[in-house]
Parts: sequence; C-alpha cells; structure tokens
Amino acid sequence: MEGCIFCKIIKGEIPSTRIYEDEKVYAFADINPILEGHTLIIPKRHSENLWEIPEADLSAIHAASKKVAGAMKKGLGADGVACVQLNGKSVNQVVMHYHFHLIPHQPGGPDLPMTAWKLMPGDMDKIKANAEKISRAL
Ligand SMILES: [Zn+2]
Repeated sequence: MEGCIFCKIIKGEIPSTRIYEDEKVYAFADINPILEGHTLIIPKRHSENLWEIPEADLSAIHAASKKVAGAMKKGLGADGVACVQLNGKSVNQVVMHYHFHLIPHQPGGPDLPMTAWKLMPGDMDKIKANAEKISRAL
C-alpha cells in the first residue's frame, strides 16, 4: 500500500534487520525494542488489522511465530516470549499494517508492563452479559 512503512520495508525501500522470511511473511527486529530481541512479524500482503487479514496470512504469521519464538529460546536463552498484537489506534496500533510482536524475556530480566497486570475478580453479571454479546455476534 502506498505510503505504508511496512510495505516499504518488505520491498527493501527502507532498511530492516531481517530475522526470518517465507512466501507470506517477513520478520525483522523492532527498532524501538521493549526488551532485547523484540521482533515483528508482518504479512507481505498489506492488511491493516485482524479484521482485514486473510486467514491464510494469519496462519502463516502464527506458524512463523512458533519458529521465531523457538529461536528466541534457543538463540537468546529466553525463558518466556510475549506475543502482542494491537488492532486500532484506540489500543495504540501505530503502524496501520498488521504486525505481530514477539518479545522475549531473559531470565532475571525486567517484567513486561503488559504482562504484569494485577488479577482482580470481575463482576460476573457483566462478564456473562459481555460474553453473550460477543457470542451472539459470531
Ligand atoms: Zn503495508
């Protein structure tokens, strides 16, 4: 897509640090890493978000994420990998080309803010009402 920074990375018009690539996906090092080894996996065909991406591209991204997460364990000694994917500006999606974050955690390293939320029991009536709304919309 014209003007999309990730489409330019795929075409090689903007340099990136390649980690993995296959027919459908490209994985590269995030230049604003949350923790060391932070990697992005993107579809080669432009889709903005989870609502738009074709299932074949989504499957390819998840298959690639398994390979890259394994390599993070083997190559970096990661003891955990957070997978994060944001859809929409309201949840801080910055680049409007689907991207899947893989963020490895090192033994003894700092916690990721998004994995350190406090568990608080919810209102079961609201939980059930929202579950019904989602379920009915499927
Ligand atoms: Zn794009």
